[in-house]
Amino acid sequence: MTGSSDTPVGSASEIHTLISRLREIVGEDNVLTGANLSARASHFRDASPLHAAALVRPADTQETSQVLSLCNTASQVVVTHGGVTGLVDGDCCTPDDIVLSTERMNTIEPVDVAGRTVSTGAGAILQNVQQAVHDAGLQLGLDLGSRGSCTIGGNISTNAGGLSVLRYGMMREQVLGLEVVMADGTILSTMNRMMKNNAGYDLKQLFIGSEGTLGVITRAVLRLRAATPAVDTALLAFDSFEHVTDTLHHLGQHLNGTLDSFEVIWQPFFRLNTDPGIEGTSQAPLARDHPIYAIAESRATRTATDSGVLPTALEEALEKGWVSDAVIAQSERERRNIWHIREHIDIALRHDPVFVYDISLPIADMQAYVSDIDTQLQTRWPGCNLYVYGHLADGNLHVLVAPAADESLDEATRLDWHRHSNTIVYGPLQGLGGSISAEHGIGLSKKSYLSLSRTQAEISLMRTLKKTLDPAGILNPGKIID
Ligand SMILES: Cc1cc2nc3c(=O)[nH]c(=O)nc-3n(C[C@H](O)[C@H](O)[C@H](O)COP(=O)(O)OP(=O)(O)OC[C@H]3O[C@@H](n4cnc5c(N)ncnc54)[C@H](O)[C@@H]3O)c2cc1C
Repeated sequence: MTGSSDTPVGSASEIHTLISRLREIVGEDNVLTGANLSARASHFRDASPLHAAALVRPADTQETSQVLSLCNTASQVVVTHGGVTGLVDGDCCTPDDIVLSTERMNTIEPVDVAGRTVSTGAGAILQNVQQAVHDAGLQLGLDLGSRGSCTIGGNISTNAGGLSVLRYGMMREQVLGLEVVMADGTILSTMNRMMKNNAGYDLKQLFIGSEGTLGVITRAVLRLRAATPAVDTALLAFDSFEHVTDTLHHLGQHLNGTLDSFEVIWQPFFRLNTDPGIEGTSQAPLARDHPIYAIAESRATRTATDSGVLPTALEEALEKGWVSDAVIAQSERERRNIWHIREHIDIALRHDPVFVYDISLPIADMQAYVSDIDTQLQTRWPGCNLYVYGHLADGNLHVLVAPAADESLDEATRLDWHRHSNTIVYGPLQGLGGSISAEHGIGLSKKSYLSLSRTQAEISLMRTLKKTLDPAGILNPGKIID
């Protein structure tokens, strides 16, 4: 599960010397080895102990620079960890790697209300930044289900998407400035706070979405938006996908730019997450036999003109016969119940095996695509569960494939099934101009399929950039590209 095999691994004594020198840089307590290291979980979703040569926790950009300079000279692989909630094995490491955790670089500076910016350390937890910005009367245009654990550095390095992309764009649109430490320890500080800065190449864009392969992000300046406390959330039921897109277009035209989210849920996922026979599911606010559902959420400032526009627009969609049934949350509890149906993926993940995808494709092709892969999956594995839901307005679907297995599978069969599932799910995307990764990135788990979404010329330029910025190949090697 690593890409570090090409990099020479030092002898035990060399690693020992390196760790001693790391301790001199960041302090004894901030280099974890042995039991202190293995007390940590490998990942947000994997409680097994973290195996690495050491975990180092620099306090700031200067210490990060010294750590990388040392590791670069020693050709020592460094894998950066934020909140380890990534979903493509981008944070995987081997027992020979040094893990660089950004957890101590979690400062959130005072919000610049007039300039609508906030500067944070890369290790600041997204939810803490959201709260600090909220306390200052503003809002960050990024929200994800992993908000309580993921970090700003992780969000930037994966160019995270989430629930408000429709309105505010992906993480790239929220970043004004970055401080990055290059593989050799050089500090590239572009803590720009202005909306406009066309002075030459916009170098920060190189690091946004590069998954820790080109540099370590240590600080960022984020763009902020007006607070939108007037929230309307509706769950909608449809009898056809065509009516879903009619309604999306209608809401986009009539909500004065306040439509924040439009999330689609096909029936199997809705039924699973509202099954009264399963513990932890949500109450179904609408009948469970509609073929397709959507959650629409509008968020407005407290002006009389914006608040309450969603219910009015929905009445029109009901009158036109596009929406078959609808419910509008009357309280925060009801709102949370509606979102729980969409965000709660744990029940689907209890299947074993279950293969998880995050794809994008044109909205107009979605229903045909879902029907096509369902037919192929049922042919390959009769009774196979296919759960589809996601950020419809962004052209982004999450797809979970869970073939029925009579008994526990051996590893070879599991890999074979995964490969077949990948072929079925990814196969049609190239022809549709879609992407094998809408928002989670490539990491290790999607690397072999990169050529379905990027041309050879693009992949070749990615390799050139990697070789130029990290000639010794120490930063997250083997992730995204070989
Ligand atoms: C419940 C749940 C819901 C999620 N929902 C969404 C969603 O809606 N949209 C979405 O896009 N993602 C989603 N994710 C995936 C994940 O939360 C995001 O990819 C997130 O941005 C990762 O942040 P992190 O701090 O956990 O990064 P990590 O997992 O620690 O790292 C991710 C990658 O970034 C690199 N990295 C981390 N920090 C830095 C840094 N400072 N400098 C350079 N490289 C770095 C790592 O090496 C790794 O390659 C979800 C995950 C979960 C578990």
